[in-house]
Amino acid sequence: MRKNIDGVLYSLNYQYPAAINIDPVEKKPLYHFLPGTKTFSFGCAGCNLKCSFCQNCTISQVLPDEIETEQCTSEELVKAAIHKKCESISFTYSEPTIFYETMIETAELAHKYGLKTIMVSNGFINREPLEKLLPFIDAANIDIKGFTEEFYRKYTGASLAPVLETLKTMKKAAVHIEITNLIIPKANDSKEEIDDLIKWVRDNLGSDTPLHFSRFFPQYKLTDRTATPPQTIITACERASSLGLKFVYAGNMESIWTKK
Ligand code: SF4
Repeated sequence: MRKNIDGVLYSLNYQYPAAINIDPVEKKPLYHFLPGTKTFSFGCAGCNLKCSFCQNCTISQVLPDEIETEQCTSEELVKAAIHKKCESISFTYSEPTIFYETMIETAELAHKYGLKTIMVSNGFINREPLEKLLPFIDAANIDIKGFTEEFYRKYTGASLAPVLETLKTMKKAAVHIEITNLIIPKANDSKEEIDDLIKWVRDNLGSDTPLHFSRFFPQYKLTDRTATPPQTIITACERASSLGLKFVYAGNMESIWTKK
């Protein structure tokens, strides 16, 4: 998504969203931030990861000229959000780090117009651009995709440690954080790994951090296994609750899990 032209790096997806929608904020998912409101959501082509289970591969694993995009300035995006009576703008769908320039410019402008800003991200970003960005971000849903380096290397092409660093930096900057963990059979579904994840969230982000366990369905390149059994998600929710997390949710499920 960057091109070197005569020694200068240019963004290829700058101000070219590949997807724009108005979503309930709960769809991000954020359950504890502006509940019941609409969020103006957009994403540009590309991603810095290559998850074999990607649910948005049609925009995350392509170049901007391989899909339909539309040129929109940050001002047009912010004004459209206001016109549609949204209270926030979400950088989402693919990976906002990959359209960093558009994200930071739009977020800064959104604040000037009184809108809140939301980042839905894999959290794989260097500290310097993150710290520059955070004054303009109010809330984030960050994936912790698994809790071993082995899982990250094998299934995403990235690594876990920088994601955890991002979360600690966001916490320090007082960004509202919610976590999503997609539980994939035979990949990151062991009791030990799920326990480690829960304990890390509790001890580093706080027991009031919302944690969303989400059910995997075969996607993209990961089609050699069945969907996550609902009971796996329910067991993870119960475990998180018993280990002290106050807000635990089951995602991609027909029924809602509630604490007994
Ligand atoms: S980080 Fe998200 S958008 Fe990027 S490849 Fe992974 S699942 Fe897809």
